[in-house]
Amino acid sequence: MISVEEALDKILNFVEVLGREEKPILDCLGQVLAEDVYAPFDVPPQDNSAMDGYAVKAKDIAEASYEHPEVLRVVGEVAAGCVSNLTVDPGTAVRIMTGAFVPQGADVVVPFEDTDEADRKATLASSPEISIRVGLSSGSNIRRRGEDISKGELVMKMGRPLRPAHIGVLASLGKRTVAVIRRPMVGILATGNEVLEIDKPVLPGKIYNSNSYSLAAQVLMYGGVPKLLGVAPDDVGQLTEAVRHGFDCDMLVTSGGVSLGDYDVVKQVLAAEGDISFWTVRMKPGKPLAFGTFERGDGKKIPHLGLPGNPVSSMITFELFARPTIFKMMGRGNLIRSNITAILEDSIKNSDGRRIFARVVVGNRNGKYFASLTGTQGSGVLTSMTKANGLAVIPEDTKEVKRGTAVEVIMFDWDDLEIGEKINN
Ligand code: AMP
Ligand code: MG
Repeated sequence: MISVEEALDKILNFVEVLGREEKPILDCLGQVLAEDVYAPFDVPPQDNSAMDGYAVKAKDIAEASYEHPEVLRVVGEVAAGCVSNLTVDPGTAVRIMTGAFVPQGADVVVPFEDTDEADRKATLASSPEISIRVGLSSGSNIRRRGEDISKGELVMKMGRPLRPAHIGVLASLGKRTVAVIRRPMVGILATGNEVLEIDKPVLPGKIYNSNSYSLAAQVLMYGGVPKLLGVAPDDVGQLTEAVRHGFDCDMLVTSGGVSLGDYDVVKQVLAAEGDISFWTVRMKPGKPLAFGTFERGDGKKIPHLGLPGNPVSSMITFELFARPTIFKMMGRGNLIRSNITAILEDSIKNSDGRRIFARVVVGNRNGKYFASLTGTQGSGVLTSMTKANGLAVIPEDTKEVKRGTAVEVIMFDWDDLEIGEKINN
């Protein structure tokens, strides 16, 4: 048996960062930038107002107060989106809206609340004057040109994974498309004579193919593009044919057929058609794992990850081995999740020297994380995965972790499951 780390190393060693593609920014969420992005102009492009108010000279209102307001002549109005050639001369003001460019001569914006605008509203048109009730220092309530980004600046570096804010910044620079590392296409093939596609009626002796769907959803979640290759029976010929339909993919994932049973033919196909490494990995669930490569004919080798068929095992082995592989192909760093430490609320026994990944619900109480088992830990109990928000890691050499002990937990997500909350559906 090899360790989880050894298995992952071998897989990661095989794959490389994929090529680049240029595409619309909104399609790039989660992808990694394949170019440096420089600013073609200042953002914002001009000094503009951060408030609705009056653009004035700071000097003119230096002495202003509620009791002794400064009365200025209003020479015009400027709204956001307008280009105006108004100038603020000494003793004058321009009425200005948030986002409007600050007129020449003004160096401060006084918000409406600090003027008598509300009292004058009715008469402002006939007697264009405004009383300023506060003194403000130069630059107040003005967003400076280039305050966010200055022209020529390196805004985002190659290698940066794009989050929603990055997509927004690219838009603020007027970039409609951007170069990114392309998403890997991952072929997903379920195997097993008993496995039935979900568009078929229920049949005796059969179970529905859940693995293809949980695995495809994981591919999507981690940024790849799933290609569903259906279900192949435990037959070398048909399985070989089905695998070939995935030869246009960057990686193939199969579920089932890697145990020691009579019908576990995935290994045979991989051995006959490609290079195989077959391992038993020191982990639970998910001991049997096949990894290998298929030769496509044109010299290109396609990595194949043969996951076990049990629904929980296939999801957990995907999480541990396929997720980092997808991330590596996408050019992402942090291939391994950073785990948290939580206090275990149940005892867990470890009888056979494997690393246990137990499904847990993690919650926070008084600033501490607590993890409780989701219930039955059978590797066929897929609902244990829907209830869990993390996997508690019990080391190989630990015979038992007692309730109250701190353990490492791999978090799937940080949704609002509370400690002790047992979700039934
Ligand atoms: P195997 O690894 O092929 O021996 O399968 C282990 C267990 O997982 C068996 O009980 C299978 O019926 C089940 N299984 C295999 N493939 C799937 C699938 N695609 N969807 C749901 N269960 C599966
Ligand atoms: Mg099977």
